[in-house]
Amino acid sequence: MSVNPTILHVALPTPLNRLFDYLLPVGAENAPPAGCRVLVPFGHQQKVGVVMAVSGQSSYPLDKLKPALTLLDSEPLFCQGALSLCQFAAQYYHYPLGEVLIGALPQKLREADGTLPTCNQWQLTREGLGLNPKSFKRSPKQLAAWQALLDAGPTLEAQLIATGIERSSLKKLEEKAFAECQAITVKRATASTEQLLTEQLLKETPKDLNAEQQSAFDALRFHRFHCYLLDGVTGSGKTEIYLQAISRVLQAGMQALVLVPEIGLTPQTVERFRARFNVPVTELHSNVAKGARLENWHQASIGEARIVIGTRLAVFASLPKLGMIIVDEEHDLSFKQQDGLRYNARDLAIVRAKNANIPLILGSATPSLESLNHALNERYTHLRLRERAGGAKPPAYQVVDMRGQETSAGLSQFALEAIGQTLGRGEQALVFLNRRGFAPSLICQSCGWSAACHACDARMTLHNSPYKLHCHHCGSENYPPKHCPSCFAPQLTALGQGTERAEETLAQAFSNYPVLRVDQDSMQRKSAMAELNNTVNSGKPCLLVGTQMLAKGHHFPKVTLVVIMDADQGLLSGDFRGIERMGQLVTQVAGRAGREEAAGTVLIQSFRPDHPMLQCLIHQGYGPFASALLQERQQAKMPPFSAMALVRAECKRPENAKALLTKAAQIARSLCPPSQHAGYIGPIPAFLERRNERFRYQLQMVFSHRQERGRVLNELATALEALPLAKRVRWSIDVDPQDMS
Ligand code: ADP
Ligand code: ZN
Ligand code: ZN
Repeated sequence: MSVNPTILHVALPTPLNRLFDYLLPVGAENAPPAGCRVLVPFGHQQKVGVVMAVSGQSSYPLDKLKPALTLLDSEPLFCQGALSLCQFAAQYYHYPLGEVLIGALPQKLREADGTLPTCNQWQLTREGLGLNPKSFKRSPKQLAAWQALLDAGPTLEAQLIATGIERSSLKKLEEKAFAECQAITVKRATASTEQLLTEQLLKETPKDLNAEQQSAFDALRFHRFHCYLLDGVTGSGKTEIYLQAISRVLQAGMQALVLVPEIGLTPQTVERFRARFNVPVTELHSNVAKGARLENWHQASIGEARIVIGTRLAVFASLPKLGMIIVDEEHDLSFKQQDGLRYNARDLAIVRAKNANIPLILGSATPSLESLNHALNERYTHLRLRERAGGAKPPAYQVVDMRGQETSAGLSQFALEAIGQTLGRGEQALVFLNRRGFAPSLICQSCGWSAACHACDARMTLHNSPYKLHCHHCGSENYPPKHCPSCFAPQLTALGQGTERAEETLAQAFSNYPVLRVDQDSMQRKSAMAELNNTVNSGKPCLLVGTQMLAKGHHFPKVTLVVIMDADQGLLSGDFRGIERMGQLVTQVAGRAGREEAAGTVLIQSFRPDHPMLQCLIHQGYGPFASALLQERQQAKMPPFSAMALVRAECKRPENAKALLTKAAQIARSLCPPSQHAGYIGPIPAFLERRNERFRYQLQMVFSHRQERGRVLNELATALEALPLAKRVRWSIDVDPQDMS
């Protein structure tokens, strides 16, 4: 009997936030290092978990411990940086570590039968080694393949092919038993990409930086942790700075991680990185097919992928030689995950850079108030680019007073005329409306009935193509009734505007020009984006109508007029971030226009044309607008001047959700009584009280200090887990919530 048993401390994807102890699998000799997966028995199930530590001790009686079933990996799947980040995220977001770890892996590796991808490796057989080169007299290609294998020993097929050797020649050698092929899992980067000289590294000549870009670039330090806020208007050449900074990272033999918003990741973005460098550039996001995603993830994890471009989940990627992180469009809401582990990839990127002691660049034309505040108090270095690179001019703003105006489908006469003139001059125009579908409601003008969702406290949106009523909150659909179901009046009225209606109206008004709609619905077809780009890049006059999809990633150099149909959505929103988002959206959409020679005009339609924040935005620009908002937040002690958290609860039986939160409020108040440093609101109904048949409530908490928030949430989470009621209610903790709905 062994005196010192080997105990594996394993993180498992279960709601219980602790490690579970197992013995080594029967027959296994060596304990796996931390970061390897194991398959373990768990109740009546089997689960894949991650070994976090190995020791000789357990706080459970040894005879109660079960052996693990299988060691799934011989080497850790997580580099140290990724492992530490998962631990941080579990703690900061109060989410079980096992869930964080398993969620950070590509889908395939979450399963017990998921293995790392393999590739072909070739080597000569004993017979092949003994050959005389003369035996290849008639086949120079086979000779070359044979010679390469003789010189280099076992070599990856991809490397052989990269040097011009054909696969068919290798196959011939194999047929003759001169060479053999083996599927292996590559564990390290190939030497060829390790250290590159500048001239080998670059595929194209970098642009000469303009004075502003140069001074921003000169401020960067590459050897230690520091945050840089690259605050530059759209088109000011931020991407060029990223490219030149990455060049330095690559020269040092390291990897760069570039995080981009979900729909900002256009093929053009990736293309710019590929066009610049002779190194593998890899994408990690949900549009990459599952198999390829595993392959890409693996390339990143062995250090072969030198530039990794990905959406929020990529912040957890295993990157053994990480040298810099860039978060582009750092203000973007898609960096925040809105369910499960409610993390903010931008914030985690900062933690990751800090742990790795490497620099981080946050780039945006409209920085979040959080980042701006750090820049203003000099925790981050504030780098500004005020001018567009290449000499393009900034757009001119004009507010259109909508009060008392005749409109067609929400477009003022003024805007319609401006569109007509723009098209008439042979230029392009863009109409922005952040609401898809035909109309946000279908009503009866006789009795006031409106089409409501059966499962939510919300109206259903009328869509025209295909014709249906659609709830944007729960996804339920039905066919629009022909008569009023309540008073049988023969006609129903579509009230308000969505992008489909704007498209229809514009197509009628400007029938000689193409009108292209850009929203989630219209872009579902695979070819839609390519068609859009073709039309826009042709430079011929056309009209674009779309949602915030238009505000990201795309450049529309020939657009000279932007119409923002409804700025009031954000101005009058109930969310305390509503105005910040309005300012970001307006500035981002405006920035898409007039990139080249022609200056742009931006028309903003509003029923509150003299709203001071709207005036500030258009006359002074985003910077002063954001500073004014920061002052308001400071006075109100709202984030970023306080640390906020939400506890959400939802249940088919409203009383259960409310009761859980009432209990949560009691516990929190007893842990930290309300004071000027701790405030509680709730339970209050969520903005949409009923969604998908569940009643939703929330408890808002605001603390002066993050540490205090952490302490309260920690104890609160433990206390809630233990309540029987918590098993009947869906509840979650949202740390630094972005969306209060
Ligand atoms: P951003 O990322 O800030 O939107 P980009 O880096 O995409 O800006 O630059 C906008 C345009 O200006 C691109 O076409 C880019 O190639 C060009 N550009 C950037 N920097 C320079 C420069 N120093 N000289 C000339 N053109 C530049
Ligand atoms: Zn009616
Ligand atoms: Zn619904």
